[in-house]
Amino acid sequence: MNEYDSERIAGILSSLSMKRAENGEIPDIYIVNTCAVREKSEEKLFSFLGRIKELKKKKRVIIGVTGCVSQVEREKIFQRAPYVDFVLGPHAYKEIPRILEEIEKKEKVIDVRWRKEYQEIEKGPLRESPFSAYITVMEGCNKFCSFCIVPFARGREISRSMENILKEAKELAEKGYKEIQFLGQNIDAYKDPDSGAGLAELLKKASEIEGIEWIRFITSHPKDIDEKFILSIKELEKVTKYIHLPAQAGSNSVLERMRRGYTREEFIEKVNMIRSHIPNISIGTDIIVGFPGETEEEFEDTLRLLEEVRFDNLYSFKYSPRKGTLASRMKDDVPKQVKIERLIKVQELQKRIQLEKNKSFVGKIIKVLVTGSSKKDPSIYAGRDEGNRVVNFRASKNLMGEFAQVFIEEGTPHSLKGVWVEDKV
Ligand code: SAH
Ligand code: SF4
Repeated sequence: MNEYDSERIAGILSSLSMKRAENGEIPDIYIVNTCAVREKSEEKLFSFLGRIKELKKKKRVIIGVTGCVSQVEREKIFQRAPYVDFVLGPHAYKEIPRILEEIEKKEKVIDVRWRKEYQEIEKGPLRESPFSAYITVMEGCNKFCSFCIVPFARGREISRSMENILKEAKELAEKGYKEIQFLGQNIDAYKDPDSGAGLAELLKKASEIEGIEWIRFITSHPKDIDEKFILSIKELEKVTKYIHLPAQAGSNSVLERMRRGYTREEFIEKVNMIRSHIPNISIGTDIIVGFPGETEEEFEDTLRLLEEVRFDNLYSFKYSPRKGTLASRMKDDVPKQVKIERLIKVQELQKRIQLEKNKSFVGKIIKVLVTGSSKKDPSIYAGRDEGNRVVNFRASKNLMGEFAQVFIEEGTPHSLKGVWVEDKV
């Protein structure tokens, strides 16, 4: 979502007749868009700001900090980095043109006010990719899992009007985009503010747009995803058969302390329900290790969950206490070294599972949306399949931005390797 927001901010600046600075050129405006989910990204912000501060010695550069760190740290950003000119929370980007004018008159500007509606910007985002586009459909979260800063940083759930979402998707199709990715921290909660229609209806309507061939959606919540929804996407051919379903932990006591709202058994039941309707669906997850009080036994329950479910991909994180959250009041008592060891164990186990799964693709032909090529060898292309697996393959023709049929020759833990079917001799 931050990537999409950065593209929106770039869109606003380009509507003010600004353009991207060339590599090595000192920009007139430097905006740092931030993430607050873990502490590390916050620390990175301040070291990064320390570096760009030097630019101010060479010319007048306006420095702005936007995003979730701005929202939670507010004026404190000015205290720690006094050379920052403006601080904007995730609801304030639309104000950038006005704020840039104010900066001329005032010393510093801050806007971290919550808005009740999604802030549409007039000119669309300035996107990085010409083939695949993010579209935020809802933002914020009402769930308040005990470890998570999202409800404080992004605010409560706000859904965007379906009409505006579909308009954006249609414009993308006209520009030749093949894939759209609907985003929301808790995407099952999407509800059109005008009609009350939900995510299934949005996906159905988006499927009717000619030119768009793949539609992804992230992130689903294990508590909210239901059979009716799965049955409805099963019928929608363009909706990719990939679900991101963060488990966070496999132990009931940890899940309870995390306030996730489901048990291990209920999570597995959801996975089984999804797979019973769409057997080849790819399922990804997120795992946090070293949550306060996590014992060795509790951690092993997580490993057992991974063995049992066999996810197709996994993002793993060391627990990071976030100010203001319920868990930050619990003692962060799992030693750093133990967190690292547990993270490695999760990653090693998942690597083995993914290797086994990816090897089963050898000899098969799969459809890939080609979005990149290797810098070293431009005849090696990269893309993803419907299940969000990275695929690298050789081709004798420039296939950028196209769908390609790829014959898989090798499965590695993190990708599939192969050759374009038309080059297979
Ligand atoms: N809405 C999604 C998650 C959004 S945050 C859900 O409910 O699952 C993205 C991921 O960051 C989370 O899934 C979690 O694994 C990780 N994360 C969030 N807060 C964290 C924290 N305090 N420490 C470590 N990882 C965290
Ligand atoms: Fe954070 Fe996701 Fe929980 Fe919402 S549902 S509080 S975004 S982890």
